[in-house]
Amino acid sequence: MTRIGRLYELQQVDSRLVRLESSLATLDDGSSLRTQLTQARSAEEASRAEVNSRQTRLRDLELELQTTVAKATRVEQDLYSGRTSNPKELRAMQEDVESLTRQRQRLEDQMLTLMEEVERLGDQVRTLEAERQGKERALDEHLEDYTSRQRALTADLEATRRQREVLVAEVDPELLRRYDRLRDRKGGVAVTTVSGSICGACHMTVPEALLGAAEGSDDVHTCEDCGRILYVPSR
Ligand SMILES: [Zn+2]
Repeated sequence: MTRIGRLYELQQVDSRLVRLESSLATLDDGSSLRTQLTQARSAEEASRAEVNSRQTRLRDLELELQTTVAKATRVEQDLYSGRTSNPKELRAMQEDVESLTRQRQRLEDQMLTLMEEVERLGDQVRTLEAERQGKERALDEHLEDYTSRQRALTADLEATRRQREVLVAEVDPELLRRYDRLRDRKGGVAVTTVSGSICGACHMTVPEALLGAAEGSDDVHTCEDCGRILYVPSR
């Protein structure tokens, strides 16, 4: 293999390192799915809190209803006990019973409304719960996938770095410095192949004479347009 051929191998390894590092850096760690899950949890909790507050209110109304019913029963018993025949007192007791009956009706109506709301909100909680569970599963699956991708990319990266170390040791230091400088200036690509007579990097035509000189050569020949080192293997 020529010096330029070896340098081209190094270029391929370096380009691969750049791709692997970029893939690793842009790997989705599931943060958007995690945000979605947090939102789903909040929505579910808010819905549960609404159910709980209505259930608390229902228990309060239930106690109030029991008190009202007991009171009405006492007044009615008193009313029909024959304890008094005073018309004014009897009328007052009658009015008490009517008022307590209206109060009881009002309480029962409120409770019915609350029970309907609890039922509707219960459906909502179940829907939100299923959504939250779905998002938990999606995140778990994603993280599993993420971890295996990360592991594979890291292994590939380490193997490629070791490959680079071996190659670099085989390249003449002066040529390596020139290669590094060129890579810095040329977007990471210092050595390029030629396709037909077209520079593989800048896509301009390489003159026949230059192509002939570069072919199979151990010396550095650069593209007249982009300045990159041309790698032209012997045919
Ligand atoms: Zn070029």
